[in-house]
Amino acid sequence: MSAETSFDIAIVGGGPVGAVLGALLRRSVYSPRVLLLERELPDLAMPANTTDLRFFALSRASERILKAAGAWEPLLQTPSALCAYERMHVWPRDTDPRGEGSLTFDAAELGEPDLGRIASNEALQRAGLTAFIGAGGEARAALVHDLHFTDCSVELSTSIGTVSIKLVIGADGGRSVVRRAAGFDVEAQEYGQLAIIANLASERSHESTAWQRFLGEGTLALLPLANGQSSLVWSLPRDRAEALLAAEAMTFNAGLTAASMGVLGNLSLASERRSFPLRRVSAPHYVRERCALVGDAAHIVHPLAGQGVNLGLLDAAALVQQLDEASREREDPGALRVLRRYERWRKSDNEVMSLAMDLFNRFLAFGGDGPERWLRRGLGFVGRSAVLRRPFAERALGLAGDLPDIARRG
Ligand SMILES: Cc1cc2nc3c(=O)[nH]c(=O)nc-3n(C[C@H](O)[C@H](O)[C@H](O)COP(=O)(O)OP(=O)(O)OC[C@H]3O[C@@H](n4cnc5c(N)ncnc54)[C@H](O)[C@@H]3O)c2cc1C
Repeated sequence: MSAETSFDIAIVGGGPVGAVLGALLRRSVYSPRVLLLERELPDLAMPANTTDLRFFALSRASERILKAAGAWEPLLQTPSALCAYERMHVWPRDTDPRGEGSLTFDAAELGEPDLGRIASNEALQRAGLTAFIGAGGEARAALVHDLHFTDCSVELSTSIGTVSIKLVIGADGGRSVVRRAAGFDVEAQEYGQLAIIANLASERSHESTAWQRFLGEGTLALLPLANGQSSLVWSLPRDRAEALLAAEAMTFNAGLTAASMGVLGNLSLASERRSFPLRRVSAPHYVRERCALVGDAAHIVHPLAGQGVNLGLLDAAALVQQLDEASREREDPGALRVLRRYERWRKSDNEVMSLAMDLFNRFLAFGGDGPERWLRRGLGFVGRSAVLRRPFAERALGLAGDLPDIARRG
């Protein structure tokens, strides 16, 4: 590719956030020419992998963003990768799953058809890319190595040549090359925990419910899948997790069933096990002249409440709204003052969520008896009051906070 290109914006990274961002940009009034560079571009003509292990709990706000991006319809085309969940049930270590101290959010009680959808990472990425290409975006398989900033453009060194662009957006995940090459600092904190993920068969139906237990040494989440299985996210101290990863399947299954208190009967592995180290990462700045970060490139939060991708989609929607407004006012979309508006908007929201997840993890998921007693009392108190449950449910639906226009209630 030559240094001079006919694109206005380059997105580095075509994961769920980068792909949806590209589709939103193409469908905006601004409608820039967008080049998306992705290291491992999936072949959209081939069927999706059916053994994806990473599933997201998409909030209502994310659903609206995906609809506005044109990615919702393609996602519905893969029904096996999408499951509506109608209830969310949370309980602490030392109570029965349905005992005092447990808390249930019910879609019917809130007058909602469901609380959200559980979607596979791969299905979401493919739906985003389909929408992006369908809206006239150009996606190329390429690895971006480095960036060089000049006064009025950025040069990207990539495996397919050099690209010169007015604005580059880093959607290249937690180990972002854009973040490093653009000189952004990061604040990172290792939790010393691993999250084990796997797909599970269960003796009893998951009842379209997302189940979560605070264990005192981490959290256990069981997300309902369309094929009747459940997706496991089990966060534990590293040594405990490593022992469980190395254990025979029968031993693992027994430990898992005990940790879930048999809420779905006996649980057994229906896939391999994988794990991810858990970290909290936050870039003090998301923008500089001609460059912005979105999604995991800007922030990684503990997966305890499954908010990672939801925050990234909100970043994408907020950035597109700012760029759209700038183009209407005939401002340069790569100008720092334009990009700063996006940073101010999203950074505070993301920081609040990141801190909340950190506190939950520190004091509730890993707390001793003191915090756990407070958790039990707190959950029980909220659980008994429909009025108190509503603000928590609004958070879970992703409808709290300063939302981009396309994520608001219609
Ligand atoms: C165990 C675990 C469970 C999780 N569960 C949930 C959950 O339930 N709900 C939820 O919302 N979130 C969850 N998350 C978080 C979620 O996975 C991330 O927040 C989400 O994937 C971020 O999307 P992204 O598009 O920003 O980044 P990524 O998905 O990391 O995508 C980045 C893309 O950039 C590409 N790329 C990287 N570098 C380059 C380069 N140099 N050149 C070109 N391309 C490049 C990569 O190939 C990749 O496709 C979980 C995370 C973990 C670890």
